[in-house]
Amino acid sequence: MNDHHAQEALKRIWQSRDVKEIAGRAAQRRMNTQGEWAPPEGITPTKEILYLSVGIPDTGSLPREAIGEAMRHVLGQEDDAALRYGFGLGYYPIRKYLTEMNARKGRGEITEDWFQLCNGSSGAIDLVVRSLIDPGDVIVTESPCYMGSLGNFIGVGAEVCSISMDEAGLNVVELERKLAALKVKGKRVKLVYTIATFQNPTGVAMSRERKEALLSLAGREKFLVLEDTAYEDLYYDAPSSDSLSALSDGYGVIAVGTFSKIVATGLRIGWIQARPEFIALFGRMRFDMGQNQMALRMMGRFLEQGNLAPHLAKIRALYKDKMNLTAEAIEENLKGYVSFARPAGGFYLWAKLADGISARDVWRTAFQEGVAVNLGDSFFPDAESKNGEYLRIAYSWTARDKLKEAVQRLTTAIRRVADGQAA
Ligand code: PMP
Repeated sequence: MNDHHAQEALKRIWQSRDVKEIAGRAAQRRMNTQGEWAPPEGITPTKEILYLSVGIPDTGSLPREAIGEAMRHVLGQEDDAALRYGFGLGYYPIRKYLTEMNARKGRGEITEDWFQLCNGSSGAIDLVVRSLIDPGDVIVTESPCYMGSLGNFIGVGAEVCSISMDEAGLNVVELERKLAALKVKGKRVKLVYTIATFQNPTGVAMSRERKEALLSLAGREKFLVLEDTAYEDLYYDAPSSDSLSALSDGYGVIAVGTFSKIVATGLRIGWIQARPEFIALFGRMRFDMGQNQMALRMMGRFLEQGNLAPHLAKIRALYKDKMNLTAEAIEENLKGYVSFARPAGGFYLWAKLADGISARDVWRTAFQEGVAVNLGDSFFPDAESKNGEYLRIAYSWTARDKLKEAVQRLTTAIRRVADGQAA
């Protein structure tokens, strides 16, 4: 606009409006929640930060060469397929690979039309939830639960109901009780979201018995299970029990998966795995003009060249080693201050602080000491379940040779808090 006065007038009009008032109701609720990843306010780190707060693959482990070869292969093709829109369920060779992987895991007969590729599993979760949830519908989550999904559920106007976990996973007896109470209030649960294997943030893997109990309850009460398998392939010694999706032959279960944790987060390739009638529904609800075709074709080539299996073998050993190293350092330095169970896979230790040590104080003090951890409270869906006792310690991203130092800094912070010297 050329007219300076007109531009000033527009500026005055819009500067006086509050975005929060313009936003839809669900977005308003979202804006009223705290930005969970922000560093602690008013704290200046004394050293360059080491991150025990980032749940992404180890930088040094990324399969750069194979990705490079695959990318060059894609760019070497004469047609323009990698450079134009791609619609539908997503690049066939990837869905074929996923179908074969399902068979290799002994998980029954499925076909390529059980898969819809998406922009990461977060894109998959978003599509599932937008397709199924009306404002006011109830989504049950584990407590604690991956905060990204929680935000997404709130963002579509769902009511989130949290159920506690133990070492065998989601507490199904408590869920059954909660369903009855919700029924009395005239509310119905449409979806139960579970990260059944090596959960974020607890590292817990749901037992087979618990999975069977959940599926049986789901059938009786007619809710769908949304199974997030982000960490499932990152077991250390042996795979966990069969997935919910396999145990139910896909009936009543929608699974989402991702290459983010097993290959690289930046590629943004994830998927929905569900019976084809559901996949067709999700297809109708998509609006993203397809995915990044270069990335998909690159991944197709990466998989066809047989790169995934050896890469998985390598990173399983790496994360097992990093977990043990971190756990040993914590046990050595923080006996009596922190308790946790070693996970059998995944990226996280879920650490409970001893009575009287505030996780928030530790989180702040640790940042000052030069180490970032996640405040456990961020993973609890509701105010009542927050208890200020937990930290999530992510050992995946920080280089192996920095982990001891990171735990050392955390130790200094925890001891400071215990001695009344919190930042
Ligand atoms: N689900 C879980 C349990 C996660 O931890 C994450 C990433 N932190 C995601 C989904 C989303 O990952 P992406 O979209 O990269 O697949």
